[in-house]
Amino acid sequence: MTSVIPETPKHKKAKALRPGARRPAKELCSECGLCDTYYIHYVKEACAFLNQQMSELEQAAHGRDRNLDNPDELYFGVHQQMMAAKKKDPIPGAQWTGIVSSIACEMLDRGLVEGVVCVQNTKEDRFQPMPVVARTKEEVLAARVNKPTLSPNLSVLEQVEKSGMKRLLVIGVGCQIQALRAVEKQLGLEKLYVLGTPCVDNVSRAGLQTFLETTSKSPDTVVHYEFMQDFRVHFKHEDGSVELVPFFGLNTKKLKDIFAPSCMSCFDYTNGLADLVVGYMGAPFGWQWIVVRNQIGQEMLDLVQDQLDTQPVMSQGNRKPAVQQSIPAYDQAVTLPMWAAKLMGVAIERIGPKGLEYARFSIDSHFTRNYLYVKRNHPEKLADHVPEFAKRIVSQYKLPE
Ligand code: FAD
Ligand code: SF4
Ligand code: SF4
Repeated sequence: MTSVIPETPKHKKAKALRPGARRPAKELCSECGLCDTYYIHYVKEACAFLNQQMSELEQAAHGRDRNLDNPDELYFGVHQQMMAAKKKDPIPGAQWTGIVSSIACEMLDRGLVEGVVCVQNTKEDRFQPMPVVARTKEEVLAARVNKPTLSPNLSVLEQVEKSGMKRLLVIGVGCQIQALRAVEKQLGLEKLYVLGTPCVDNVSRAGLQTFLETTSKSPDTVVHYEFMQDFRVHFKHEDGSVELVPFFGLNTKKLKDIFAPSCMSCFDYTNGLADLVVGYMGAPFGWQWIVVRNQIGQEMLDLVQDQLDTQPVMSQGNRKPAVQQSIPAYDQAVTLPMWAAKLMGVAIERIGPKGLEYARFSIDSHFTRNYLYVKRNHPEKLADHVPEFAKRIVSQYKLPE
């Protein structure tokens, strides 16, 4: 009688990199966590900064890649529907109204998944990310609110495989989800759900400190912040007060270098590979913006539909002149005096882009800035690293040499 010993998958023989060791993507590494696991075996194909393969992965995840001739898909990726929504009963302490945490809680509650990859913070530091595989609602809720720093969410993937878990929800940002999708088949799962958020301008923990100290009047009491549709940064402080700082008054000279090189080279702002994306920038102020990419995403949204108020997405204004004007500001690190910044902010808010047009404004401003960054700092990567959809978006503007 012969017994068949199942072959150990090759990746299990690979070794995670030790903390602090230089990652294969070098300075472009966004610390997604893949290299902290034996899945580093696949890094050359999987890393968003070594192998841009957006359209192939879109086909695998959604059954097709985005239609570049459809203006909404060009900007927001493959989708079945978009809407604005907010929780009737918001979760206290969530980044917005807590739609992301609510979906994850429902999925655990109903037994659709055995665990949720999400990111809590350490006891000592509210902004220091600590990825976990949450198995209870309490653990999911402890991960609510953004950790506005690079977070190695995928570092817990080895733990998932070792635990024998078969049904998993992963919450994450674009670069994490690209690497996840690339190794999805190797995880030994029966079912994977992916809940994404948009993401832009992320920073290391040290960079975050510089940002808070340069921009807020009380950096030590900031609980969370967001770059909002009214063209101001909203800092929420421990005592519940909100501090508003106009974008146009930010000290771009000092802030220019705080964003991580990965995030200055990133073109997956809207998290094109998640099943469902929950952000805010395509929705009216105070609402969240939902992009349902495929049927799995729709199933996830259905779980919380009765907890939400919803309304159709809208679009108003013309972003293009404001984007064209913002290009030299980023490029030459211009800072307006605060009074002028406030005036300009008010004027732009009155006549400026709203709803989906605001989302396009933000995408255009970041893609043009990032395109110039890659062109200047990694010219050899420009052709392959920038996805076709981003090249089309950038080509609408006149860029400095
Ligand atoms: P909550 O219920 O509070 O849950 C937040 C979830 O985010 C948690 O499950 C947590 O695990 C996860 N999370 C927190 N920090 C990280 C991290 N660093 N990496 C991966 N996962 C994390 N939306 C926009 O529309 N435009 C933007 O420009 C934009 N920028 C963002 C930048 C960053 C760094 C992040 C993390 C998110 C950004 N978002 C942006 C998304 C938005 O801020 C909210 O996270 C989203 O709307 C969900 O809100 P919520 O109240 O439903 O989330
Ligand atoms: Fe590894 Fe992720 Fe860094 Fe790429 S971004 S080098 S996959 S940790
Ligand atoms: Fe990753 Fe892009 Fe967000 Fe940076 S901006 S953390 S590279 S998704």
